[in-house]
Amino acid sequence: MATTTQRDYYEVLGIARDADQKTIKDAFRSLALKYHPDRNKAPDAEEKFKEIAEAYGILSDPKKRAQYDTGGFAGVEGFSAEDLFANIDFGDIFGDSGFGFDFGGGMFGDLFGRHRRGPVRGQDLEVHLVVPLERINTGGDETVHFARLVSCPTCSGSGAEPGTEPRKCETCGGSGRKVITRDQKQEKGSVRFQQITICPDCQGQGTFLEHPCKDCHGRGQVEKDETLKLHIPKGIDEATSLRIQGHGMPSDEPGAPPGDLFVVVRSSRDARFERSGSDLWRRETLNVVDAVLGAKLKVPTLEGEVDVTIPAGTQPDEVLRLRGKGLPNFRGHGHGDLNLRIQIHVPEKTSAEERALYEQIRALGPGNNQKKRWWK
Ligand SMILES: [Zn+2]
Ligand SMILES: [Zn+2]
Repeated sequence: MATTTQRDYYEVLGIARDADQKTIKDAFRSLALKYHPDRNKAPDAEEKFKEIAEAYGILSDPKKRAQYDTGGFAGVEGFSAEDLFANIDFGDIFGDSGFGFDFGGGMFGDLFGRHRRGPVRGQDLEVHLVVPLERINTGGDETVHFARLVSCPTCSGSGAEPGTEPRKCETCGGSGRKVITRDQKQEKGSVRFQQITICPDCQGQGTFLEHPCKDCHGRGQVEKDETLKLHIPKGIDEATSLRIQGHGMPSDEPGAPPGDLFVVVRSSRDARFERSGSDLWRRETLNVVDAVLGAKLKVPTLEGEVDVTIPAGTQPDEVLRLRGKGLPNFRGHGHGDLNLRIQIHVPEKTSAEERALYEQIRALGPGNNQKKRWWK
């Protein structure tokens, strides 16, 4: 699979970029049944099948799909077969047998094995980005500020002041290792044993810094403030982590790639709404009279105020749903709802006049607002 001509995942499954989960699942099912190596003996069937499975592994998971949409293949590199297939219910897709899918290893173990080889990358870095609900609602670019360690530009990462050279350790000749060799006599000739340890003089560094670089104090790395523009997908789920390849920490190994940056996106606290997935919740307090008689309210939404009619006889804790006034669904179509949880405020004090009117209502007797039955 380590090809330079990797095809776009949407293209592999033959679906549109805004395809919903059902479309993705259907496309995967029919292609997987067609190319499963147990059924299809064409020489390229296995490669095709792996391509389909990888595409499905990414696109069936909203978070991985968002990472792919944002960062392309780089955004989703490094997932193991387990990462991709752990949460997929193959019984659900192919019937009870799961169509003999074994994702514990075998073909799938090999499939993503390539991601685990190669030099040791630098460490990944995680930053948190808090954005207002309005940004989640519209999607769009946000700027992320963070600090990361980079190779010191003054000394090019050597740690030595420019113009000076680190002194090579004489004990180990710069290798950082000490090799102890001894011959042991045995019946037939002798056997040579080698013991390799870290050089005790330079602690394995191979060099001594006699003139450490003043900017990095000999560490070879400095902290650098960075800003990065990041596209926030519309309706992104709370605490989704977006991966930006190569913006993590540099590797200790020369030539090895840096780690990745993970930006965890959260929505900021909002006095007006509480977020629950793509739904928003809000408390509205009515006075007793409005609850009894009904009323018209002006209610804030993420796209301005709307008029809401409160029906007569609204109860405490009743939820009025404003359909489609929530956040856009991260995947799939449409919007969540804005739910108004109704609270009713009972006046602590009443004027003499109000009291007289409440007394009049009481005098009408209990149940006066119930409909009379026709047989009574
Ligand atoms: Zn330096
Ligand atoms: Zn040494």
